Amino acid sequence: MLPLKPIVLFSFLSLALGSSPSWSETGADARYEILAESLLRDAIARETAFGMGAVPAYANSLREHLISVGFPENAVQIVPLGETASLVVRYTGDGSSGRKPILFSSHMDVVPADPNDWVRDPFELQEDDTFYYGRGVLDNKFDVSILTTLFTALRQEGYVPNRDLIIAFTGDEESYQATVQQLTRDYREAIDAEFAFVVDGGGGALNDAGEAFQFKVGFAEKTYATFAVTARNPGGHSSMPRSDNAIFELSDALQRLQGYRFPLQTNEITLTYFERTAPLIGGDVGDAMTRIVADPSDTEAINLLREQPEYVGTLGTTCIPTMLAGGHAENALPQSATATVNCRIFPGNGVEDTLDVLRRVAGNSELEWGIVGEPVSSDASPFNTEIMTAISNSLETLHPGVPVIPQMGSGTTDGAFFRAAGIPSYSVTGIFINPKDSFAHGLNERVPKVSIRESLIFWRAMIDQLAGPTRVPSN
Ligand SMILES: [Zn+2]
Repeated sequence: MLPLKPIVLFSFLSLALGSSPSWSETGADARYEILAESLLRDAIARETAFGMGAVPAYANSLREHLISVGFPENAVQIVPLGETASLVVRYTGDGSSGRKPILFSSHMDVVPADPNDWVRDPFELQEDDTFYYGRGVLDNKFDVSILTTLFTALRQEGYVPNRDLIIAFTGDEESYQATVQQLTRDYREAIDAEFAFVVDGGGGALNDAGEAFQFKVGFAEKTYATFAVTARNPGGHSSMPRSDNAIFELSDALQRLQGYRFPLQTNEITLTYFERTAPLIGGDVGDAMTRIVADPSDTEAINLLREQPEYVGTLGTTCIPTMLAGGHAENALPQSATATVNCRIFPGNGVEDTLDVLRRVAGNSELEWGIVGEPVSSDASPFNTEIMTAISNSLETLHPGVPVIPQMGSGTTDGAFFRAAGIPSYSVTGIFINPKDSFAHGLNERVPKVSIRESLIFWRAMIDQLAGPTRVPSN
């Protein structure tokens, strides 16, 4: 762990506490932009990768900050788990809407970064005219800092929501996702909500001219499941080959899988995604999307889209071999050969059902199949018009008319666990970035500096629409 810098934000906060901040139609209070940057700077200096044990201290610094701006101590709870922890914050409303809370979730941990590989020190917030740089600056410490700033601003404003607002910052999203599972299993009451915003993913896309052209909202994730298939054989000396051979049998099975396509599947999310994406990309691919929406049995259109690695995942389950192991000596017949097959399962399909399909397609009952790890499957969150409208309205002052597009993710984020626990969850962030500039998990991860201002405006507007309009404080 790196030595941490002293946190300077507290002195700034004592200045801010005395006066009432002004939010306007056009901009969030500049002081909160400074606070968000200060929180981000502190966050980046903490190496919260798996195994570093740095998450609890980070959670604790956020807790102390929130208490210092007026949250009651019992409203800011640290939930430890091994070397990491979650932070759960409750902003109590007046209950006048009669509705369950809204949950906001981000994660405090990061993917490891080797400073030797980076142009800049990954654990120091660096900047140029356009971007901030550092590990976690995009994924996901930016949004941790934004949500913390948002709750600070609301508290200092004297805002009373018409329902409770909850923050859940998890501590191991990039590794085992055990903290989110602990929260949904053992702390359900603390995080129970009508729906969750997983503020990690989704968000705005900029083109090369820097113009916003779409805003994505994640409604669903495919189930990430990995299978191992093994062929076994008594083996023997390679100078006396047998007619049966573990490597040949495994290859045969893999070739059958190669020739197989899972059937086309669509849902409201993917059809709306195609419908709204088609006019943005145009050409053959856009045309194929339009045709599938009109006629999901249009084989030519399906095949054209299946050729596009970017879109094949939106058409149904995919399974693909990713690793091979087999044999034990160059002059021995193999006693076993194993392939690892990674699947992204379309929402609504089970892991076991998918395995049954693979078994059947492989066409050899002698093969041994196993599930690797513990896949979590979740159904798509319902298409929620209230949320989609709130998002469109909240983007109106920033990027008027930008199309809001529902999306199905192909990995597993914390949102999959909230969905699996029956809390519909929507992945969305206020960040607008050119996909080319997004280096999440990679070297020189960056985020546009203007995202701080835009995210604060976006989320402040979201709160107004989903938890009641701002009340002017009486001071
Ligand atoms: Zn993330």
